[in-house]
Amino acid sequence: MKNVALHNLGCKVNAYEMDFIQQNLLKKGYNVVPFDEYADIYIVNTCTVTNIADRKSRQMLHRCKQLNPKAVVVALGCYVQTDSKGVIGDPDIDIAIGNNNKSKAVEIIEEYLAGETAKKVDCIIDINDVKNPCPYESMSIEKTIEHSRAYIKIQDGCNQFCTYCIIPYARGRVRSRRQEEILEEVRTLSSNGYKEVVLTGIHIGSYGMDFKDGSDLMSLLEEIDKVPGIERVRISSLEPGTMTKEFIERLKNLKKICQHFHLSLQSGCDSVLKRMNRKYKTADFTASVENLRKAFDRPAITTDVIAGFPGETEAEFEETADFIRKIGFYEIHLFPYSRRHGTVADKMEGQLTRKEKTDRVKKLSEIEREMTRAYEESFIGEKVSVLFEEPREIKGQSYMIGHTDRYLTVALKSDEDLKNIIKEVKLSGFLADGIMAGEEA
Ligand code: SF4
Repeated sequence: MKNVALHNLGCKVNAYEMDFIQQNLLKKGYNVVPFDEYADIYIVNTCTVTNIADRKSRQMLHRCKQLNPKAVVVALGCYVQTDSKGVIGDPDIDIAIGNNNKSKAVEIIEEYLAGETAKKVDCIIDINDVKNPCPYESMSIEKTIEHSRAYIKIQDGCNQFCTYCIIPYARGRVRSRRQEEILEEVRTLSSNGYKEVVLTGIHIGSYGMDFKDGSDLMSLLEEIDKVPGIERVRISSLEPGTMTKEFIERLKNLKKICQHFHLSLQSGCDSVLKRMNRKYKTADFTASVENLRKAFDRPAITTDVIAGFPGETEAEFEETADFIRKIGFYEIHLFPYSRRHGTVADKMEGQLTRKEKTDRVKKLSEIEREMTRAYEESFIGEKVSVLFEEPREIKGQSYMIGHTDRYLTVALKSDEDLKNIIKEVKLSGFLADGIMAGEEA
């Protein structure tokens, strides 16, 4: 059987789609080999979120023919979608498959290998055709390749059009996955031993807006909460528009929901949020966090922030820094603003220099470090449940590493294989930066 090498770039949705392709390849008997090895087929699942992501996608695609000049090179996904001409014209790429066609990737490759298709295969649809909107592309996984928790895709596309983001043009408009199909996948994952599922998508707050039967994100969460065997449900990312008082009232009744809420902020300054075309103000964000803190015991609030958005003045940046301190996040994914051609923000006046942006990221990461430590310290001496994931050697000793439902990383000294077991431990302090020490409870 042929050897296939896979490389995934970008987000958890891309990773889910690649897991699906890998699952299909394995079922058909292909050997999956590491990407830097000699293979007959190379598949690169590309990303286009920034100019750098485009460059990385091209680099990975061009590496394939260097590893085996006779290999079949398959380009998939977002970069293919936004630079279709470049990909189709690239002599190093044999098959180009855009978004909403990934579920057919293995069949397309096999037709190509059998000589049933043209020399160059182009499977790129117009994902932005509003007159003929594409349906949700059905895929389902039974196992995940690398994680002990399973990421489940529940939705695709985005209608928000933030000024810095190209994703709506690469992924198209919102389309949600049928609730029954998601529940079926959750049941399968549960019967395969998974205890935690993470709901993911491009803009999961929009889940269900394209349905006419009234099913929405909350009704989906309420159904997943009933699936036997699943003990934790995590939501990958939401915004204040979804995290309303009413939503939180129902959220707190769910037995399995993790007390870890990722609320995307991007900026803590209203004028910058407006230029970003984000659909909330800092006051809405504060209200969501306050309501979550009333409903849950010290929930972990995490977020994303972009530093150095075009035109961000020193005063606007300081507003963001103050807002971050005021909220008290557990963790922040900090990004220097990265230009992406084709977006509104790329053409804005007042682009900051690389140094200005990285200096701002540095300042925010110092604030973040203190907040993270303070949050973690507040749990020392308490008993917590940990889902163990992998063994790790730390300072010459064997530990099992896992996460609490608030996503604290915990290490427990153990020679036993506790992988995929949820166990109560007592937190006694820190073992290393970002790793808390657990003791048998
Ligand atoms: S919400 Fe904004 S940042 Fe997120 S995918 Fe949609 S357009 Fe991009």
